[in-house]
Amino acid sequence: MRFVDEFRNADLARGLAAQIAALAEPGRHYKIMEVCGGHTHTIYKHGIEDHLPDTVELVHGPGCPVCVIPMGRVDDGIAVAKRPGVIFTCFGDMMRVPGGDGSLLDAKAQGADVRFVYSPLDALKIARNNPDREVVFFAIGFETTAPSTALTLMRAKAERIKNFSVICNHVTIVPPLRALLESPDLRLDGFIGPGHVSTVVGCRPYEFIPKDHGQPVVTAGFEPLDLLQSIFMIMKQLAEGRSEVENQYSRVVPWEGNLKALEVLAEVFELRPYFEWRGLGFISQSALRLSDAYADWDAELRFEMPGVRVADPKACQCGEVLKGVIKPWECKVFGTACTPETPIGTCMVSSEGACAAYYNFGRFARSKERAGA
Ligand code: SF4
Repeated sequence: MRFVDEFRNADLARGLAAQIAALAEPGRHYKIMEVCGGHTHTIYKHGIEDHLPDTVELVHGPGCPVCVIPMGRVDDGIAVAKRPGVIFTCFGDMMRVPGGDGSLLDAKAQGADVRFVYSPLDALKIARNNPDREVVFFAIGFETTAPSTALTLMRAKAERIKNFSVICNHVTIVPPLRALLESPDLRLDGFIGPGHVSTVVGCRPYEFIPKDHGQPVVTAGFEPLDLLQSIFMIMKQLAEGRSEVENQYSRVVPWEGNLKALEVLAEVFELRPYFEWRGLGFISQSALRLSDAYADWDAELRFEMPGVRVADPKACQCGEVLKGVIKPWECKVFGTACTPETPIGTCMVSSEGACAAYYNFGRFARSKERAGA
């Protein structure tokens, strides 16, 4: 295939859906988790669930980087943003994530100099152009975006740009998967492996899932046929009694990952002993911080931050959504008190968040559509 339309071919999609249905064992209910927020977006946008048999359920996982940021870290960022002389930079999605007392957008409205950037290099450019100001970048994301932060820090060090620093919230993909697999709340049959993260880490890190938990993993691309083919590959493994890691997205994901990017990560970052994830609690060795060689650019050492753990609002059920325990529309405030304009939880902020994806594209629940509502 050469063009994106070919990955959206309706006849091929129908054919794959029929093959998935044929592989489903009568009387068995299958739960397959897509880990990546980009997959959740594709599933809702293209109505993938509507083409699957009722017995094949897709469960949405914790792979949206904005969604897993706990409120306390947002409050830390706001505390730094409000300091005199600071220019605070972050990705656009991050601006609206609610903290314990408002968002970065609220802080900006109150006078803090908060700017959104498309890349950490943009933040470094702001630092170069404003030598009298402290420029802080609020870094988020899995191993997908961590290399760009690492390369920016390497450039800051090479150019001796001292008025630039990073609040590092980068997280790693394997520890939350382990935590989910060890959770008693959830029984899964397989995983659609995250396509973006895997471009950096490769497929090898997922080998513990079939080995220790007997479940298939298929790393998938982001077009509708990618997802349907991946679900077919998982169902085929289950039908044949196999559990392996397979790579449906081999046109982009190298099995061993991006070795250069991994090298850069190892130079700039080290693992934190533990990190709090929204909805999943503290998970050991699940996030990155700056290594000693980059301590001069570590905003957590440069500025005082509250570092307080803040409980989610009572009405918020993001934790259950991120663990795949409930679907977005089962949250009591979904689409009423919590909308993309007035988010109570993080899953409604980013377009990769399951609640935002469902709010934007999932107007009709499968059952309603089938009943002709
Ligand atoms: S509807 Fe809002 S509060 Fe409920 S789970 Fe989704 S983002 Fe969280």
